[in-house]
Amino acid sequence: MTAPSRTASDGELVQLGKKDFESDQAVRWCPGCGDYAVLAQVQKIMPELGVPRENVVFVSGIGCSSRFPYYMNTYGFHTIHGRAPAIATGLKLARPELQVWVITGDGDGLSIGGNHLIHAMRRNVDLKILLFNNEVYGLTKGQYSPTSRQGMRTKSSPLGSVDRPFSTLALALSAGATFVARSIDTDARHLQSVLKRMAAHRGIAFLEILQNCPVFNDGIYEEMKDRKIKSDHLVELVHREPLVYGSEHDRVLKLDTDAMRLYPGRRDERDGGVEVTHDERAPEPTLATLLGSLGGDGVPTPIGVFRADEQPSYADLVHAQEARERDARGPGSLRDLLYSGDLWEV
Ligand code: SF4
Repeated sequence: MTAPSRTASDGELVQLGKKDFESDQAVRWCPGCGDYAVLAQVQKIMPELGVPRENVVFVSGIGCSSRFPYYMNTYGFHTIHGRAPAIATGLKLARPELQVWVITGDGDGLSIGGNHLIHAMRRNVDLKILLFNNEVYGLTKGQYSPTSRQGMRTKSSPLGSVDRPFSTLALALSAGATFVARSIDTDARHLQSVLKRMAAHRGIAFLEILQNCPVFNDGIYEEMKDRKIKSDHLVELVHREPLVYGSEHDRVLKLDTDAMRLYPGRRDERDGGVEVTHDERAPEPTLATLLGSLGGDGVPTPIGVFRADEQPSYADLVHAQEARERDARGPGSLRDLLYSGDLWEV
């Protein structure tokens, strides 16, 4: 779909293209950084969303990916470390007509900003959150992050990290996010389709993007990108389809119902495991949470939409509550509010 994305000064709607969403700022990521590919896909889908450009805002925290708002020719706000979801929540409540995107990374979003992130998800605030996961702090030059793998040697973990990494998607699902997805920086087709779906979702839409940092953590997702082997290392989730993968489509994720775990098996094998069907709108996100924690050590990593549930958004609930009060008690005034509680003189 293409749609007018801006109202011109004379009131005419103008059809915009990708270039109209590219700012005049020089892009300052390292050569080969996965952030370039994500930026290109976001700029590409923007004209297709049918949202006037003046109603689009990108809010970021601190980190390499948080330079994103400078490169979008939309409104933008480069805010403070980890606080982008809180600032974006206020913006969305005050100006519900805006489409608000949040750009964060595994350090910004899951460490200092972890608290803000989980509560934005719990509240189902109508935000589109892109979390660039490169499993390392890039901007501060290579310390281990909350998603770094155990044993990773960095300047801040010279003997190898002993921390257990967060499962980003299991965290999002447990926090109650209503749209949860994963994609890969260089998979343009897949990334575009997920971005469009999250743009259409009402409520929180959370996307983890597996993003390569060639300077401090190069090649960690290579087996999911290499055309020769990626079909053995990826499961692309399809709503109402079994979890099939492999170059011959002969492998499948099965559920061990006693241990409640997913494991890789063969389609023709009778080993007691159950072939399950992916359901984005399952009443409970139990299977999605198991899928969110999966990947590595010979087990394929799922990508796609894990959950797409419809719930009232935070702004809808707050504004409905305000409207009910206004109907019942009149418009009120700030002065009345200030003098409505216990007062004392000093
Ligand atoms: Fe990209 Fe890594 Fe450079 Fe940051 S340090 S801009 S994540 S390549």
